[in-house]
Amino acid sequence: MPWVSLSVTNSGNFRSCCQVSTADGQGLLKSERGTNLHCEENEVKDIRNHSLLKRMRTDLLAGKKFPACKTCWDQETYGVYSKRLGEIDRMGPIFDELDARRITQEDGEISEDTPIYAIDIRFGNNCNLACRMCWPGDSTLWYSDFVQLRNTNKFTIDEVSVEIEKNPSNKWQLSDKKLFSWHNESRFWNQLESHAKTLRHIYMAGGEPLIAEKHYNFLQLLIDRSIAPLVTLEYATNFTVLPEKAIALWPHFKLVNLGISIDGTSKVNDYVRYPSKWDNVLKNFDKLESYPSDNLVCYVNSTLSALNAHKCLDLLKWYLERKKSGRRYPKNICAHTVVSPPKLSPLVLPHEIRSRLLSDFQSLQKSEEAAQESDRDILYSFEQYESNTTMIASGDPSPLLPEFLKETTKLDKIREESWKNLFSKEDVDLIESHLMSDAQI
Ligand code: SF4
Repeated sequence: MPWVSLSVTNSGNFRSCCQVSTADGQGLLKSERGTNLHCEENEVKDIRNHSLLKRMRTDLLAGKKFPACKTCWDQETYGVYSKRLGEIDRMGPIFDELDARRITQEDGEISEDTPIYAIDIRFGNNCNLACRMCWPGDSTLWYSDFVQLRNTNKFTIDEVSVEIEKNPSNKWQLSDKKLFSWHNESRFWNQLESHAKTLRHIYMAGGEPLIAEKHYNFLQLLIDRSIAPLVTLEYATNFTVLPEKAIALWPHFKLVNLGISIDGTSKVNDYVRYPSKWDNVLKNFDKLESYPSDNLVCYVNSTLSALNAHKCLDLLKWYLERKKSGRRYPKNICAHTVVSPPKLSPLVLPHEIRSRLLSDFQSLQKSEEAAQESDRDILYSFEQYESNTTMIASGDPSPLLPEFLKETTKLDKIREESWKNLFSKEDVDLIESHLMSDAQI
């Protein structure tokens, strides 16, 4: 990554890699004065030999574990296919360790003209949803709820304090209106244009990347210059929108990977991914069925939290039904269990609910043995659920149920919803009895 990739945070700051934590400033590229290097004010060539990147290169080539890369190293310890391993595999054919050793000087410096093959861009925080586990740094729709929920109008992003305020028409907005709008300006796109001919992989997230209008112009530029057939596009989308222009442009590219974030069906989806509507998501899946090329790989990324883990098999069953009825999409489901913040982890739920999830999964797995044997994507999805449900059922119980419910109930009041509608009456009683027995709230 620190040789041939470029990563930009959603407030436009250059960072060493999208996997490093920027919350404590570890991965941000900073000036000597300590300010963030920003894609509107700094040239890409000026950051190629930033001291942080040089240190990363020398450490990686020496086989040392660079501290900011902790997420990847930790994942690999548990056998998880980390971003680091993914990048090594993906970049291997065009840039491998031998290339890195060849072009890197002893102090980690490389030529400013070294091609950029991959970019990772988060298009600000413009989003049409305010998902339960999200926040204003990733979604404009979170502003009002955040102020009411946290009793503050301030938050910090990339080590910069930001204020939310009401404008004259009584709408919530940021005091610094330009903070997340850099991708609407031409400076960044002009810089990217000068690297267009070597680009092979573009990862895009947000906010919601499919509503980031300017990026479609860049896709058109790649098509006009005949670069598109060499480029893989990758999106992390909530899939509540599927613009016609995306469907028209994508077939020109080598590959389009659409990672769709869905955390449940029906009312679970509508509650967790507020204020999306499950029927609307379904319509977009149906629309995708007539996609006019075979260059699209679409998979569901499902995050299992205390809000939806108990209902996650509904999503797996929905996927199975689609596969069995011959639908092209989604190809499979990847599942991830929430670890941070710990109060959102499914481990806060009573053990009875967590162990029932595992036994229900095992029954489903047994009844669908034939489908798993005949379809590798179905098998993969079951494997994803097996590791996650096993982890959820067997993990040490978390004492954070009161904290989880306190915040959830407060947000429920703001949104006029109730977490109790997601659980059966028996499970609500069980959860409440655990609260009482712990006498924690
Ligand atoms: S879709 Fe993504 S960015 Fe938008 S609110 Fe949900 S989690 Fe946040």
